[in-house]
Amino acid sequence: MNKLWNFINGEFVPPQSEKYLESFNPATGKPHLLVSDSDERDVALAVDSAKTAFTDWSRTKAEERAKFLYRIADLIDERKVKLAEAESADQGKPVWLASQMDISRASHNFRFFAGTILHSHDRATRMDQTAFNYTSRKPLGVAGLISPWNLPLYLLTWKIAPAIAFGNTAVAKPSEFTSHTAYLLCEIFQEAELPNGVVNMIFGTGPRAGQALVTHPDVPLISFTGGTTTGRAIATAAAPMFKKLSLELGGKNPNIIFDDADLEEAVRMSIRSSFLNQGEICLCGSRLYVQRGIYNEFVEKFVAQAKALKVGDPREKDTFLGPLVSKDHLEKVESFLKHARDEGIQILAGGNLPKLSAELANGYFLEPTVFAGVKHVSRIQQEEIFGPVVSITPFDTDEEAIEMANGVTYGLSATVWTKSLQRAHTVAEELHAGTVWVNTWLMRDLRLPFGGVKASGLGREGQEESFEFFTEAKTICIKHG
Ligand code: NAD
Repeated sequence: MNKLWNFINGEFVPPQSEKYLESFNPATGKPHLLVSDSDERDVALAVDSAKTAFTDWSRTKAEERAKFLYRIADLIDERKVKLAEAESADQGKPVWLASQMDISRASHNFRFFAGTILHSHDRATRMDQTAFNYTSRKPLGVAGLISPWNLPLYLLTWKIAPAIAFGNTAVAKPSEFTSHTAYLLCEIFQEAELPNGVVNMIFGTGPRAGQALVTHPDVPLISFTGGTTTGRAIATAAAPMFKKLSLELGGKNPNIIFDDADLEEAVRMSIRSSFLNQGEICLCGSRLYVQRGIYNEFVEKFVAQAKALKVGDPREKDTFLGPLVSKDHLEKVESFLKHARDEGIQILAGGNLPKLSAELANGYFLEPTVFAGVKHVSRIQQEEIFGPVVSITPFDTDEEAIEMANGVTYGLSATVWTKSLQRAHTVAEELHAGTVWVNTWLMRDLRLPFGGVKASGLGREGQEESFEFFTEAKTICIKHG
């Protein structure tokens, strides 16, 4: 079986412990890769390498850095098929989706920040006729970047690209469940001749490799995307060290469908926002609120379309849902199904493990599942399930929908379906979430802030926000009058 070694100072090196973690193909349930089980010794080597590389990289001209980023983006595009197949075999999403979403966005991330550094500028002010001020921004040093398993290359590159574009060097740690595309990205760094040590990749678990990165004294900033519980542990460890922190955490996002919505489009897109990537996108809408006048019609259409989705082999073009990422995660999602049955919640669709071919019989597949009649206080309605499981609830007034939508600890995103411009504005303003989509879902202009409120996170990612996060500002005041 292939061993994924760490990438330190431009070379692939075995973990100090000489231990490996088995990584499973979720479609077959069989191990397919061995991932370095790194610890604080590997992290220390990677940080040293990044620290050394910082001296030259932070002084490299923006145009030169941009050239490397463009080259990396081109190489990602050239390897699209291989990367998409690797991502699918590691994470479970269909190959077509990995190609369309993850890999395309990964190359775009590098291009986006390559362009950004060619056009960014600092601020300057004048104080009457007496003084002139300007801000000078500098990279911070070694960035610690920790990413989850659900959009492996997409989210990892959304951290690496701005970190190095703005002149930092990086030590990245992808999820131990989905390390393959991160490894292939390191091969691309070598081919792009990115200077040694600018990006280092450490593979391994959160408590060992991740924790060592978070607490390393020479890593002044941590950008983390993952679960809220992990985010809390990272904040607890990093805050006393006064590290700069960005936390992109979990969600329990509402979809509000008003009776004046384009029903066909609302159903079609709600199917996507519920079940794309097996519901394992932090932005998936898992609580559907449908106005009573169209509730029955919506439910009928939505359930019929959910039942028609193909669950199966991620290599096949017409597969919509592949397996969940891991056996543990499938068991976690199933525990919510059991809870629903115990609570007497109505299951309108799914709820079972599908029967598939012998090759996929041990994969972690689950049917798209739709609940109705869930009480607002139920765990099903309050906790992030992070699988192909949604609830549908009727509502009467706008105020009632807003109250239910806001009535959870999370606040990552929300979706509103209405043809009324006035209602769209009013409701969007009232929803307590980092992003509100109206009559669409998952459209993202990378120039604007992205992030969550409440338990969904701290900090924002976006063009200006990432510039601020990955640099530190100094104001220089020159008195001249
Ligand atoms: P997770 O929190 O279990 O793991 C995320 C990463 O953190 C992994 O690399 C893991 O190894 C590492 N980690 C775990 N414990 C750590 C510790 N103590 N110190 C340092 N690192 C540690 O999350 P996951 O299960 O991989 O991903 C799913 C979660 O991510 C969901 O909650 C989802 O909503 C969230 N997510 C959020 C966004 C967003 O933009 N807000 C995007 C994608 C996923």
